[in-house]
Amino acid sequence: MSLTFEHVTLGQRVLFGTGNAAANLAAEVARLGTQRVMVIASDFETNIARTVATGIEVALWHHDVVMHVPIETAEKARAAAAGHGIDLLVSVGGGSTTGLAKAVAMTTRIPVIAVPTTYAGSEATNVWGLTEASRKTTGVDDAVLPVTVIYDAALTLSLPVDISVASGLNGMAHCIDSMWAPHMDPINAALSAEGIRALSSGLPLIVDDPTGTEGREQALYGAYLSAVAFASAGSGLHHKICHVLGGTFNLPHAQTHATVLPYVLAFNSPFAADAEARIAAAFGTADALTGLQDLRKRLDAPKALSDYGFTADGIAEAVTVILSAVPASNPRAVTAENLSRLVQAALTGEEPQVLLDL
Ligand code: NAD
Repeated sequence: MSLTFEHVTLGQRVLFGTGNAAANLAAEVARLGTQRVMVIASDFETNIARTVATGIEVALWHHDVVMHVPIETAEKARAAAAGHGIDLLVSVGGGSTTGLAKAVAMTTRIPVIAVPTTYAGSEATNVWGLTEASRKTTGVDDAVLPVTVIYDAALTLSLPVDISVASGLNGMAHCIDSMWAPHMDPINAALSAEGIRALSSGLPLIVDDPTGTEGREQALYGAYLSAVAFASAGSGLHHKICHVLGGTFNLPHAQTHATVLPYVLAFNSPFAADAEARIAAAFGTADALTGLQDLRKRLDAPKALSDYGFTADGIAEAVTVILSAVPASNPRAVTAENLSRLVQAALTGEEPQVLLDL
């Protein structure tokens, strides 16, 4: 890997501690000196948010959260913030909730404190996403990067094991895809490798003991590293594929990432020796694909896009849209033919090894 590079580190305060979220939030609100706090949490996440907000004064509760942040949902939240003179946003929830807070910050420049309750990692990126007329658009704006992230593994205990697995593998996808993303450099590669190690040690512990916090701490730590690496490296082939599958075919975010990842790894790894070796070393296995597949079996991870509503009818359209977005940095030349084979394999849950020597 070349040691000639340009790397940007995003400025953010991270407070990590199981059982400390409420105290950490109160301290942060006091430190920032803000007066009018709007807490964003979906209906389902409200109970968690209420425990987190016990030490602060809340000017406005906002529960209207919708996955993929439809523009109408964003506009309502922006109007609510403006109407109540809000000067601080606190999001408590998964990537959808963080995404809504980011959408408000994007136009109002109000700072965000993020308290994540899944392993999606949105809290550590300056990437926003909005959906308009069923088209999902994303962009980069430093104003949407939460000024502070508060991690508390106790808040993720209620996340069911299968969602924890899918969400954790979404984090794993940030790490692996960063290895060949457009702005990959030695710093984000190092963060990715540590993210792979933390997630692969934490996720099996969650499966074995869903009520324990040790695995969930490792998963949150790994999710943070994965997102920092992804924010720096940018979207690689895997994210381009999943973005199209999620946006055009409305497939669930975390499960789509979890399913597609081994296919992209099998597709690229024979053409990316350095990335392959780093990923294998992070898993502690002889090769990268074995490391990922051993973990996925241990976790009983999502296997086939057909389980999430995708059908063979969609392959041609998906391939056309993905082809126009393939990053120039991808180590393997992507054609309509080999990409169709990749999506086909992910649809049915074939062994990813079929892509190694197409
Ligand atoms: P999500 O936020 O939609 O949450 C999934 C479900 O889990 C929801 O029903 C939610 O209410 C529930 N949930 C959340 N926390 C829980 C908890 N502790 N216990 C029980 N249930 C809980 O899904 P997600 O996978 O966290 O986020 C996906 C979204 O985040 C997508 O829209 C994706 O595009 C976005 N995302 C953005 C970035 C970025 O950098 N901008 C990065 C990753 C993901």
